[in-house]
Amino acid sequence: MDRIPLSNAAFEGDNNAYLFAEGDETVLLDTGDGMATTRDQLAAAVADRGLSFADVDRIICSHWHHDHTGLANEIQAESGADVLVHEHDAALVAGEKAAWDDLFDRQEAAFEHWGLPEEGREVLRELMASAHDTNRGPTVTPITDGDTIPVDGTALRVVHVSGHAAGLCLFEAELDGRTEAFTSDALLPVYTPNVGGADVRVDNPLKKYLRALQRIVDAGYDRAWPGHRDPIDEPADRARHIIDHHEERAYRVLDALDRLGPCDTWTVSAELFGDLEGIHILHGPGECSAHLDHLDRAGAVVCEGTAYRLADGVADDLAAIEDERWALSY
Ligand SMILES: [Zn+2]
Ligand SMILES: [Zn+2]
Repeated sequence: MDRIPLSNAAFEGDNNAYLFAEGDETVLLDTGDGMATTRDQLAAAVADRGLSFADVDRIICSHWHHDHTGLANEIQAESGADVLVHEHDAALVAGEKAAWDDLFDRQEAAFEHWGLPEEGREVLRELMASAHDTNRGPTVTPITDGDTIPVDGTALRVVHVSGHAAGLCLFEAELDGRTEAFTSDALLPVYTPNVGGADVRVDNPLKKYLRALQRIVDAGYDRAWPGHRDPIDEPADRARHIIDHHEERAYRVLDALDRLGPCDTWTVSAELFGDLEGIHILHGPGECSAHLDHLDRAGAVVCEGTAYRLADGVADDLAAIEDERWALSY
């Protein structure tokens, strides 16, 4: 297996593609975005192994985001490779108009509920349209939790881990006697993967993501190969750290409501993250929305129209907390 770092100016930092070329079939896990520079980097790395795009038998897409799927269509056109993606993301990766229209409709409804200003909505519409245009859909084969995919004389086991994206999967494998996982955007080494904005189709995304993290903790992987940046040597520690981070963030969301009084999601986002640019206009309020929604279901906040306020008694509970962490159920 080879990790192929690919540049990415827009999202969570350099992407990784993973090439499995030691078995009967040549398999690529994720492709990077669809930019010409990324294509050249990936083609050069594949050529270093004496192969070309035409030799690729299978492309696995970890989820629908463009920076992971951007070259799937082009490589399939050259090679006829199967493109595998979880059933929840298959229609988006395939570029089906109804699926994209549904996503855009859900985003507009979310923008309205968040109280997102019009100029922010315009920035996001342009970003989404540009990613969509360049992501001409390949023909896809849906996969689901528990499937296995042969690579390099072993197999990748598909583990569905929703939250960041509805169809996000990680892939477990026995490599050199160790249990390792290709975690894509479920577990990243530097940033915490966005929940709530990155895929507005997900119902209660924070709860789903916390469960995914707990699953990573419980699995006790020896190493994680993420969708961006360097390998993670202690995946369980990193997953626990991100769970802690979300409990600290939940406290900050509640503390903001305590100080500001009833307010909408965009106002909470501005209090936590300040001014936002580019894709962060989606990710900031999206993350706040995921927290507010989860806290609403847990009875800690009350939603009235688009405004959230603390539930009765929560201000006293907050005042009694010393470690600035709000325990989240999941
Ligand atoms: Zn992603
Ligand atoms: Zn990503």
